[in-house]
Amino acid sequence: MQSLTPRHLPTYEHLLAALEQECQAFNASLDSRRVSNPASCLVPRVLSEQSAGFEAFRQVFGTEIAPQLSASNGGRYWGFVTGGANPVATYADWLVTLYNQNVSKGGDSVASQVERQAIKWITELFELPAVFEGVMTTGATAANVLGAMVARQEVGRQQGIDVAKVGCKDLDYAVFAATPHASMVKALGLAGLGQESWVQVACEPNSEAMDTIDLASKLAECRGPGKIVIASAATVTGTDYDDLVRVAQLCRQHQAWLHVDGAFGIFERLLMGPQGKTQGIELADSITLDCHKWLNVPYDCGVFLTRHPHTLLATCNVDAPYLANSDAEQPFMSLGIENSRRFRALPVWATLLAYGKQGIRAQIQRNVDQANALANWVNASDGYELNKPCALNVVVFSASDKNKLDTQTVLAQLNESGQVFMTPGMWQGKAVIRCAFSNWRTEMQDVELAITELARLAS
Ligand SMILES: *Cc1c(COP(=O)(O)O)cnc(C)c1O
Repeated sequence: MQSLTPRHLPTYEHLLAALEQECQAFNASLDSRRVSNPASCLVPRVLSEQSAGFEAFRQVFGTEIAPQLSASNGGRYWGFVTGGANPVATYADWLVTLYNQNVSKGGDSVASQVERQAIKWITELFELPAVFEGVMTTGATAANVLGAMVARQEVGRQQGIDVAKVGCKDLDYAVFAATPHASMVKALGLAGLGQESWVQVACEPNSEAMDTIDLASKLAECRGPGKIVIASAATVTGTDYDDLVRVAQLCRQHQAWLHVDGAFGIFERLLMGPQGKTQGIELADSITLDCHKWLNVPYDCGVFLTRHPHTLLATCNVDAPYLANSDAEQPFMSLGIENSRRFRALPVWATLLAYGKQGIRAQIQRNVDQANALANWVNASDGYELNKPCALNVVVFSASDKNKLDTQTVLAQLNESGQVFMTPGMWQGKAVIRCAFSNWRTEMQDVELAITELARLAS
């Protein structure tokens, strides 16, 4: 057996030929491939002492791994809020690996400037004020972690405590939220603020949106100095938006930090403009959004934005002489969690450049139209009920009394078919099915396929 010296490794020409075959096989499989593959199983194998070589990897990937991967990158995966990798971003992502830049600090390549411009373009895309700056993260969860940590830093500053330096044992704080995303709750835990120590603000009737009258009274009752409000734009089941204009007013009045989780809901702004449901998000202290959802770039890519970049720097600053930074701007490793960082900005930059605002808006609109088509069918059907009007790209529905199956069985059988994939949810205490459209590949005929299947299951 050969040892794997550089001489034995495949050339780029060889890799490209292999990749071409792989792309063809993947595309050919996409229609028939199971959309989700819960029965997958990897045969355990021990790590070998000998080099097996590149062709051995190809062979094992082709026989044991690829057949068991799901078509989540195709047009009929509608669980959670899952994007696909658009073709431009896919190509750009290949380049990310080819060049393999470490976007930790400026000075040794243009990569940091690309990330800076991509973030600026994101603020332009969503018509946010130019004061917002930020950093690209592994996803919205990491952006929410930054949101919690920067809020904590600011609350400390107001109390004369530099939390990044001395910790938060003397910190006085209270966190207010109505329907925070599960990742936001996790983020509060990671930031040391506690997964269970936030104040539950009431919701509007039949909605997951914050009752701002309740928020006003809870903020007024709170005697402590450090207040943090977590708002949603939008919630994952109801697609409900907090009244951000009112929430921001209250935050200003009570000197509370406002973090808005807009992971996918901020994209509504592309259709309805700054006066739509996200109105007021521009007043937030910090914002989370996801590019690997509705912008359809590959995983892993979220964005954290803040109007207080100095507080972000105070939170994440890396102070080590060997990291001397030749860039006038702050290096990204001092603005986020990681030191070494993937050049994840390139697929975003490429997508924004290639599609333009119009192209992205059109994609969002297509998904919204698809969600509405399904919602309208559900609403008119005997076998199903629409649990709430479709507000954007998420359809929330359940089996009606006339259906021969209950909701959980419908969902299980639907996903069992492997043709589509939806996820469960709870709506006002009732088990529901959530179907979220956010993939560039989805077409109306995919929605029709789901409708045929739902009709079959109901009768
Ligand atoms: C998806 C989502 C998250 C978590 O995002 P990841 O990218 O999976 O980490 C957070 N908040 C909201 C509202 C989301 O929809």
